[in-house]
Amino acid sequence: MEALNEFCRSEIHALRQEGRYREFCTLERQGRRFPFATIALDGQAREVVVWSSNDYLAMGSGDTAVAAGITALETHGVGAGGTRNISGTTRYHVDLERELAALHRKEAALLFGSGYIANVSALSCILGTFGGAWHVFSDEKNHASMIAGMRRSRSARRSIFRHNDLAHLKELLGTAPEGVRKLIAFESVYSMDGDFAPIREIIGLAREFGAITYLDEVHAVGLYGDEGGGLAQREGVEQDIDIIQGTLAKGFGAQGGYVASSASFIDYVRSYASDFIFTTAIAPPIAAAALSSVRFLRSADGVRLRARHQERAQHVRTLLRDAGLPVMPTATHIVPVRVGDADRCRAVAWHMLAEENIYVTPINYPTVPRGSEIIRITPTPAHTDEMASHLAGALQRAFGMNA
Ligand code: PLP
Repeated sequence: MEALNEFCRSEIHALRQEGRYREFCTLERQGRRFPFATIALDGQAREVVVWSSNDYLAMGSGDTAVAAGITALETHGVGAGGTRNISGTTRYHVDLERELAALHRKEAALLFGSGYIANVSALSCILGTFGGAWHVFSDEKNHASMIAGMRRSRSARRSIFRHNDLAHLKELLGTAPEGVRKLIAFESVYSMDGDFAPIREIIGLAREFGAITYLDEVHAVGLYGDEGGGLAQREGVEQDIDIIQGTLAKGFGAQGGYVASSASFIDYVRSYASDFIFTTAIAPPIAAAALSSVRFLRSADGVRLRARHQERAQHVRTLLRDAGLPVMPTATHIVPVRVGDADRCRAVAWHMLAEENIYVTPINYPTVPRGSEIIRITPTPAHTDEMASHLAGALQRAFGMNA
């Protein structure tokens, strides 16, 4: 054990030297008052405004999800009490899977403990257990969970195409030998660059080369499309995507992940994927809260909330750009501010917290490449004009600009 401890200390030391050691900030969200949260700084409790949450629509603290969670908590208790097979399936799980299938206009959906596990499980299931030789084409900016799922298959060949580069994807597709099964794995919204995938064009290439499409809609579900089904829904191409993967932890403000696809595929994953079979089902109060969020966001209330969310993101983007800050020009709800240096990025975030009572997350390597460090800002419908103006001024000061 001493040798292992020594190894761990030296690796952590190297991380510190590189300025990449992660310190977690303990935030206590103020329930319905989100984006306000309390943190303890130098032993003092302080109220801060959170500008870096993936609870993009503030659904996690909204009346709908909270009330549904409390009711299920009182009815079912805290935990599911077993795997889905061993007494862990409640009506919330069943109804939620049906709702998610309907949301994506697919035949069936399957819940997992997280979006990460959903990706690992579904991709490794396809590439590892379904027969034949596989060649998978993966966007270079795909999330770690997709990469982990693809890597689990020892036999599948993996080609990485340059981010959103259709010509490169086409060139690589052309290299696959006759008879090989092909799969294109990509995201709809890339959460660090804040850009969209050219989804229609990728579908076109998949058709041309006979490839299956696997789309991670983690940063789009709840947020785009007439019912919050994601970018494929907004673009009217849900039927052309073979497998849609999503999370309940971001736009829906809860926890858990899922895949939605054909009934046969979902039944197969349900029956063979070890990450699904041998783990406790998600907690019933969480499933109930997620279910109420999905239903809310499919309704006219959801349409209004999405419009407000987009308006907020646009407002903040314009404000920061007009303030002369290095905002990356995105069309999504994500507003990345370029810093380009790990130490500086942490210093900016620290200034924001200590001096301005604003919580923003510094994003460093390996989440983004070295030299591409950003402060990632995610406006929610709950952020006011006043908060946005304060953010712009505070960032100017943190960047050493004359406000
Ligand atoms: N896919 C993408 C693109 C992500 O960014 C994330 C997490 O941030 C995940 C999957 C994992 O989702 P979850 O947080 O539900 O595990």
